[in-house]
Amino acid sequence: MPTLQGFQPSLTERDMIRLATCDVKLQMLIAKVAKLTPLMVIWGFRSKAEQTEIVETGVRALPWPKSKHNHMIDGEPCSQAVDLGILPLVWKNEQHWRVLASYVWQESIRAKVGLKWLGHLDDYGHFELT
Ligand SMILES: [Zn+2]
Repeated sequence: MPTLQGFQPSLTERDMIRLATCDVKLQMLIAKVAKLTPLMVIWGFRSKAEQTEIVETGVRALPWPKSKHNHMIDGEPCSQAVDLGILPLVWKNEQHWRVLASYVWQESIRAKVGLKWLGHLDDYGHFELT
């Protein structure tokens, strides 16, 4: 991932591996957001098995391959969605999620990347390309 070098002080190797399964527009965007706030990448691409497992747990998620997390190009993961968490991760802290969304929006506007946040569906960490 040479395009991301030097960008991501708060991202761990695990975050980078997850981010690498996303569309390059999301990769560039999230790398920039990571300079503004400590964050983690919870999900990039989800395989059929991973998507099915999530759906079976009862979490609101579309079945494979309808989720934007399931997008592929030429058989390679190219997720159109990313799930993020602001650190330290406190799932019930709505304010944290709104702060995260504001950072992501700020950078998406700057980069002219069309992005949708699913906060209105209580999916606070989910951002997807439009
Ligand atoms: Zn998601």
